[in-house]
Amino acid sequence: MSASATLIDSHSHIDASEFDTDRAQVLQRARAAGVTRQIVPAVTCDTFAKLRGVCAEHTGLHPAYGLHPTFLQHHRPQHLQELARWLEREKPLALGECGLDFYIEGLDRDAQHLYFDRQLELAREFDLPVIIHGRRAFDEVTAAVRRVGALRGVVHSFAGSREQAQQLWKLGFFIGIGGPVTYERAHRLRKIVSHMPLEFLLLETDAPDQPLHGHQGTRNEPALLHDVCTTVASLRGEDPQRIAAATTANCERLLGLPREHP
Ligand SMILES: [Zn+2]
Repeated sequence: MSASATLIDSHSHIDASEFDTDRAQVLQRARAAGVTRQIVPAVTCDTFAKLRGVCAEHTGLHPAYGLHPTFLQHHRPQHLQELARWLEREKPLALGECGLDFYIEGLDRDAQHLYFDRQLELAREFDLPVIIHGRRAFDEVTAAVRRVGALRGVVHSFAGSREQAQQLWKLGFFIGIGGPVTYERAHRLRKIVSHMPLEFLLLETDAPDQPLHGHQGTRNEPALLHDVCTTVASLRGEDPQRIAAATTANCERLLGLPREHP
């Protein structure tokens, strides 16, 4: 891939403590690999300030604010009001990360819905795209998005069926694809990625989580988005440059990001 095709990591947790000791080097490696911008969604209310600081300190980092479903024990109803104040004051590009996780045992589903549904309403009120986590809950996510209505956004780390993906892009939602697609055994996901309309595809790493094939057990990092892009390109029989340009344009379109001038 030449230096001209830049990539946006549409989902990175570069603010996470895993990067506290060498964040500058990690960002440098990302830029060297053509990953010039990252969307950095929040997970809990008490990390909003650190997230804002990290994104202000480095170029190309864009924060989103939200309450992540797997951190349910950290959330309190007043955090929803606090989130609304952050959206009002900070004017982020997106609300997130929010959603439903029906994979992890013991996460109260009613409570998850309470936070998710209210955040979808906030996204509509503030006219913001929403970054959604939907592990083992893609149908419920789609139903909630439909119920609230007039929303746009991305379902990150998509791992559902072709029909579930289709339901999402029919609603105008993007499908976020990352490390899992690099595993040969991910037959269903690879088939979806090879045939889905390119106009709804976003690339992500979810760093430090979801390491790519060949990097199992290590900290994932945004530079590896380059490998996600080449995998997606080879699955589709297309030029990586084209995938990079198209997914970058998709991300810019969804988030209202200006085009980058080299
Ligand atoms: Zn995430």
